[in-house]
Amino acid sequence: MTHPRDDAPADPAGLRAAIEELRRGRRFLVVTHARPDGDAIGSALALAHLLRGEGKEAECVVDAGTPPDLAFLPGSAAIGGTPAAARPPYDAVLIVDAAGLDRIEGMRDAVPTGARIVNIDHHASNTRFGAVNWIEPSWGSTGEMIGALAREAGWRLTREIAVCLYVAIVTDTGRFMFSSTRPATHELAAELQRHGVDPGAINREIWGSNSLAELRLHAETIRAIRTDPTGRIAWVVLTQKMFEDAGITPTESQNYVSLVKSIRGVEVAILLRPLSAREVKLSVRSEPSCDAAALCARFGGGGHLRAAGATMQMSLEEAEVAAVAAARDALGTG
Ligand code: 5GP
Ligand code: MN
Repeated sequence: MTHPRDDAPADPAGLRAAIEELRRGRRFLVVTHARPDGDAIGSALALAHLLRGEGKEAECVVDAGTPPDLAFLPGSAAIGGTPAAARPPYDAVLIVDAAGLDRIEGMRDAVPTGARIVNIDHHASNTRFGAVNWIEPSWGSTGEMIGALAREAGWRLTREIAVCLYVAIVTDTGRFMFSSTRPATHELAAELQRHGVDPGAINREIWGSNSLAELRLHAETIRAIRTDPTGRIAWVVLTQKMFEDAGITPTESQNYVSLVKSIRGVEVAILLRPLSAREVKLSVRSEPSCDAAALCARFGGGGHLRAAGATMQMSLEEAEVAAVAAARDALGTG
């Protein structure tokens, strides 16, 4: 596949409008989605650092705060975890990496009524909930958008910003291996390395710092994988007991569902884990034969074509039956 001029934004007007908003304001609240991943926290922090570098005030909040596995990101300790952490008034509220306003969950209470919202995101399903919307659905991470924004605005990158952006990009592109990875993705990564990023050190922080308990849960996950007779669908149900036995609560799905997806011939990989008695977190990874976002939308979720999720309002047993049936439908094998 060739990538002609892949570095140009699909929505240059959205980018310009976002920059204008950032130039004009003095005080900002930066918000991202609940159960944040590396792209969410990395993009939010990078944007806050950039604004502060321009002499502005920026506060970050995310539902329940920074997860422990991302606490190594510079500035993450200052991220507020409750709506009370926000101190309005703000000139604008910047929401990054969230396909819809519902994705920020408890932090909706941190957004003042009537606030001017700037929506910066890379989900095709984005609901355009902002007064300003900049959406790049073919870019693999929101981090790439913040990097492009900094370049377009002529704002200086520091090592802290570079680290935050690199983490955003390397996690959301699956270490530059998802099909969303563009030549421009690598070019930005190279620029970030020139600004002081140590890719080896970041790799060790993210993928080389498992506890033995986490690795044992990976082993249990592999042991519990089930496949349908065609071998095109594989899934795993992580039960409360498996978490209790391992003595951990994973905050991310990516590494677990990737294990399921790594089986040769599997086109739809499904991970189910309990959030509460009748709430199940669904994670789906797929090949082009299945639109993962559409599959998850059946359960009120969404995401990207090949990586998506949802919170299913049912028991774990019901969720397993429903998710596998939806995958069969998607592949036309139902
Ligand atoms: P993960 O499976 O790693 O939790 O999420 C993969 C992708 O699916 C995320 O980047 C996000 O775009 C999307 N996603 C995950 N959970 C939800 C959800 O509950 N609702 C929506 N709309 N999207 C989700
Ligand atoms: Mn993202």
